[in-house]
Amino acid sequence: MVRVAVGFGSNIGDRQDHLDAGLGVLSASWTPVSRSSLYESAPVGPVEQGPFLNAVAVFETTAGPAEVLSLLLAAEQSRGRTREVRWGPRTLDLDLLLYGDRTVEEPGLTVPHPELTNRRFVLEPLLEAWPEAALPDGTPLGGFLPAVRDQHVENVGPWNVSLWRRTWWRLLKAVSRKQ
Ligand code: ATP
Ligand code: CA
Ligand code: CA
Repeated sequence: MVRVAVGFGSNIGDRQDHLDAGLGVLSASWTPVSRSSLYESAPVGPVEQGPFLNAVAVFETTAGPAEVLSLLLAAEQSRGRTREVRWGPRTLDLDLLLYGDRTVEEPGLTVPHPELTNRRFVLEPLLEAWPEAALPDGTPLGGFLPAVRDQHVENVGPWNVSLWRRTWWRLLKAVSRKQ
């Protein structure tokens, strides 16, 4: 089993519903370990757009890195994710932040996520969900927090998921185990 950290972001529509749905798809295939609170952050980059809801969830899985990425992309697509504008608004963005202590350099996949240490809206929830998280060379990620403290990010409370949705995932998981 490998421990993977996934960064979640949404800034269109019912943002929490998109994050919850993404969490549901991933939890049906992998073992959920922990998740952060929800964080609100101002968009970064050149595109004018609404604020993001961000969070991080940690899972254990036997899936390889490419397989992990393909489930992330499929979960994004299930929420109608499109890519018209680079760094533009999105219903659901799922980034593979860490894949155990491995470095991955493949076409279309770089792990650890290259911007991980520069973004407070990723680093803070990641450390909440996985306090001992470290780079593949062993550098603890907590050491990067002071440098990003000037970025504005607000913890808006626990990532609660409704009972009916959790029940639904359990069902999905039971069905996928049988196949
Ligand atoms: P950023 O990567 O700066 O957060 P973004 O999330 O807006 O930007 P996307 O349009 O979602 O970028 O992704 C573009 C491509 O990045 C994806 O199609 C995917 O192949 C590739 N990619 C490379 N490494 C990763 C990773 N670690 N996690 C997710 N996608 C990745
Ligand atoms: Ca991203
Ligand atoms: Ca992405």
